[in-house]
Amino acid sequence: MRILKGNPVSRGIALAKGYIYRAFKADVHESYFESGQEAVMYKQFTDAVAAAEAELNAIVASLSAESPEKAKIFTAHIEILKDEEVAEEVKDMIFSSRAMPDYAVDMVFTEFALLLEKAKDPLIAARSADLRDVRNRVLRILKGEKEQNLANLREKVVVVAHDLLPSDTATLDRAHVMGIITEVGGATSHTAILAQSYKIPAVLGVPEATEIVKNGDMVILDAIKGEVLLEPDRTTIAEYEIKLEEFLKSEKQSAEFLNRIPLVASGERFSVGLNIGTTEPDEGFKYVDFVGLFRTEFVYMESEHMPTEDEQFAAYRKVLANAKGIPVTLRTLDIGGDKSLRYLALPKEDNPFLGNRALRLCLDMPEMFKTQLRAALRASAFGPMQIMFPMVGTMDDIRAGNAAVEEAKAELRAEGIPFDEKINIGIMIEIPSIAMIADMAAKETDFASVGTNDLTQYLHAVDRMNPKLTNYYQSSSPAMFRILGRIFKEYNEAGKPISVCGELAGDPLAAIVLFGLGLRKFSMNASNIAHVKRTLSLFTLAETEQIAKKVQNLSTEAEVITYLKAEVEKRS
Ligand code: PEP
Ligand code: MG
Repeated sequence: MRILKGNPVSRGIALAKGYIYRAFKADVHESYFESGQEAVMYKQFTDAVAAAEAELNAIVASLSAESPEKAKIFTAHIEILKDEEVAEEVKDMIFSSRAMPDYAVDMVFTEFALLLEKAKDPLIAARSADLRDVRNRVLRILKGEKEQNLANLREKVVVVAHDLLPSDTATLDRAHVMGIITEVGGATSHTAILAQSYKIPAVLGVPEATEIVKNGDMVILDAIKGEVLLEPDRTTIAEYEIKLEEFLKSEKQSAEFLNRIPLVASGERFSVGLNIGTTEPDEGFKYVDFVGLFRTEFVYMESEHMPTEDEQFAAYRKVLANAKGIPVTLRTLDIGGDKSLRYLALPKEDNPFLGNRALRLCLDMPEMFKTQLRAALRASAFGPMQIMFPMVGTMDDIRAGNAAVEEAKAELRAEGIPFDEKINIGIMIEIPSIAMIADMAAKETDFASVGTNDLTQYLHAVDRMNPKLTNYYQSSSPAMFRILGRIFKEYNEAGKPISVCGELAGDPLAAIVLFGLGLRKFSMNASNIAHVKRTLSLFTLAETEQIAKKVQNLSTEAEVITYLKAEVEKRS
């Protein structure tokens, strides 16, 4: 038995066969064949199209019963495959220019995809992603590579991949993916967020996992400890079967807290918020008072082109409709660092996390920023919403962000387009420089939310994505609690709402301290709601205050965690 280590980003345990997933990468070069080969080359193309159609038919057949919505995606792919105009152009390139079939397919499909991208109607523009998908399928068949997709798996598996793209996760076969292991990605990567919202156990940042694990190997995924156990012996399997049962039992016990009003033992109320990344419905909406973080970058990442104002407006309205009247905190685009957009080439930076990311990038690209702000403001006419800027470091940032909002508002007013005139504008506190002047920030913002994922990274000077540095990435360190206490105090004294939307708010142990430090608004992924409500229900306000005082004077994070665990243990 071999044990690999990584970051447990979505709690749980899975026992299943490993499934190595390697996304196909089209590597096509301009190339031509000798005269006389036309018919042979054309047959390669038509054979590949026929094979692609057979694959798609099989997918549609297997999805129709359980997920007709997903099946529709693939039915649309069959239509693209049968498009006569596209096929004619490929034929023409093969016969007239003697282009190799893969080169012809790549050129023609890409050309059509680009044309669609420019369409005014967002629904038509969105079809360009489908065209690229179909192109990749045909190219893969031409290269003789086997099909791999995560949309329809035949058995229960633990997926092992280098990384998963939003397009892989969007159609993920949730009935068969028992666990996820990737070589890259940290607690706040796209894959982690999706795994949490789908409640799939995941361990990320396992170096060389796709080389070490073999297809079909028995895998135990311990996404509590952060371990991958390969080819475990019988005793270990038996041990883990019991652990899995215990885990499910404890999940069930916590689940009873989902619907309860969030109260501490002495009766004080707190609010629970939801963090979301997609515009899809999330069962968490039912159990929360607000959406504390809507990461809009996923709307951009899931698109093949820069989303237009109308597309964004439609996406934001959809989220408001899902939220059914609870207020939604829309965070403006946060890319750069670990998140990139395939259609926006950004210069390579030596220190991307300290670079031109998030609000800085938006201020640097005012037209792009304005498009988002206009879309968000327009959506605000359809439900309670507030806007929040990520990566604010100075008062200059706050003022520049606010000025951009004012400009967008003025335009909409002049055009007679309705929006919420009283919309609240706030900031994320995730850079220590703004945390240190939270008193001043509170005066010029309507609210703030603390991003503890980045705050940990910047306070401890540790790259949050580097799997080698997990020991240094200490979100529950005494230093973190001291700075958090300071932020809460300033905002509470100013009478401005303050919340935490970083991972720490969903960590039941840390939540005890945060409550004791004065926090009353906790925003988290759906999977943590029950645990936080249950743990906080065990403590009185006075106890949390005493605990908060104590942890700020312990010397290491390890001491803090041991102490907090013991306090919970005493009351369980
Ligand atoms: C954070 O930094 O804590 C946060 C919530 O934002 P993100 O993880 O998206 O950077
Ligand atoms: Mg952040």
